Amino acid sequence: MIDSHCHFDFAPFSEDPAHYLALARQAGVNKLVIPSVGVRNWQAVRQLATEQDGVYFALGLHPFFSADHTVAAERQLAAELEAESLLRAKNRSHCVAVGECGLDFAIAEVDRDQQLTLLSSQLRLANHYGLPVILHCRKAYPELLRLLKQIPPVAGGVYHAFSGSLEQARQMIDLGLKIGVGGTITYERAKKTRAAIAQLPLSALLLETDAPDMPVAGFQGQPNRPDRLVAVMDALVTLRSEPREEIEKVITLTTAELFHIPH
Ligand SMILES: [Zn+2]
Repeated sequence: MIDSHCHFDFAPFSEDPAHYLALARQAGVNKLVIPSVGVRNWQAVRQLATEQDGVYFALGLHPFFSADHTVAAERQLAAELEAESLLRAKNRSHCVAVGECGLDFAIAEVDRDQQLTLLSSQLRLANHYGLPVILHCRKAYPELLRLLKQIPPVAGGVYHAFSGSLEQARQMIDLGLKIGVGGTITYERAKKTRAAIAQLPLSALLLETDAPDMPVAGFQGQPNRPDRLVAVMDALVTLRSEPREEIEKVITLTTAELFHIPH
């Protein structure tokens, strides 16, 4: 299985990445994608992907940290993606996406225009380099949808940490995006999200932990970990009609194809 969204450069993983990767592999999670949050961690995520097997990364400017992103950061992102595209031509890049990017109108000091501008430029960069996008969205769904219709992601992408309605998921899928299924579905009370995930086409789903965030049911208060992707898979199996092997096979293939990860 592939954890399509894991902040593996954060604590506690940063203290002993090999240990946490071994735990993940024992659980059957042998690949992961690390999204970045801004200039400050691009080097760390790249280094992890270089040093550890089965680790891939994305470069982006996370809306939660909008206040940190200077105008220069946008130019730097373009330069980094250009450098990665040259490596990709030689099959030596582990950069598989642009992200995480998106809109977060739930944070205290929101500059909506800045966030919209930053997201637009990241959508254009992703299209220019033929990379998928990893999207984050909180309290900004209508604005996100509008922008995605203006600048459709040509190489697709994922709407990460999905916790919306069936209609929203379908709108995202119509735009060529996948739905990131995380720990939310391990909670019985997440009725709307669980019902939506049960009805969507299997080929539209990716699995993710968002570790160390989004703890799965039963582990609240602890940092989440990539090996707990299994708990998300277990919950998904109970919601779906397909057998477990098929769910695992289809989702792993979908994830590998989206990010052009060898499988
Ligand atoms: Zn994230």
